Amino acid sequence: MPAKPKGSYRRAAWRWHVTEAGPLVLVVEDEPQMRRFLRATLDAHGYRLVEAASAREAIVGVTTQNPDIVLLDLGLPDADGISLTRELRGWTRVPIVVVSARGREEDKVEALDAGADDYLTKPFGIKELLARMRVALRHAREKAGEHAEPVIEIGPLLIDMVRREVTRDGKAVRLTPIEYRLLVLMAQNAGKVLTHRHILKEVWGAAYQAHTHYVRVHMAELRKKIEDEPARPRWLVTEPGVGYRLRDRLEE
Ligand code: CA
Repeated sequence: MPAKPKGSYRRAAWRWHVTEAGPLVLVVEDEPQMRRFLRATLDAHGYRLVEAASAREAIVGVTTQNPDIVLLDLGLPDADGISLTRELRGWTRVPIVVVSARGREEDKVEALDAGADDYLTKPFGIKELLARMRVALRHAREKAGEHAEPVIEIGPLLIDMVRREVTRDGKAVRLTPIEYRLLVLMAQNAGKVLTHRHILKEVWGAAYQAHTHYVRVHMAELRKKIEDEPARPRWLVTEPGVGYRLRDRLEE
């Protein structure tokens, strides 16, 4: 691997390179050796890099850096990469290529079922990694071309998913990442009732399907930010015993 000059990256929890104008890759990997190898390899092939050493850092990285592709190790210190994949799939279509030492078929099926685009078993060849990444990036571009829907407008709300900005009657609404994910999920399904279970699965991950109170608490917070009268919501309504619905228009 090519030698890198010292001091070319900061010793922050995660960091990025702006050496090339190529696609931005988020590398989620807790082993420094592996990160170093991927950094050198991807750098040499014109990719820009963001690095995360945990699931928590990965979520921050996806949220703030808007990467073009994610390379994901499954064994992370604070969460399993599969549950992280499910969580990310609740609010982003960013291509996810799993890079893992786990080679069992069940693991691959589980990762792909969770929403990963591809799966590479360690050790892997550089050429194969680059080829898989190119394919995943191409699929993502094709998908984006088909269903490009960067802005959703619902009543007074405007959700710009490219800039990750929400406005209400033209004024900026500041949402937490969870609230943003909730709102995007509801908006993408505007007019439809979504069950607690579905919302939990999409926003928090499959492991949280019993935590109905999460939905209640965060929906209440979201209402404070998007409703005129949060106690009597007009847009984000409760369907008793079932779940929630974001109206796509006000009923007469
Ligand atoms: Ca690991």
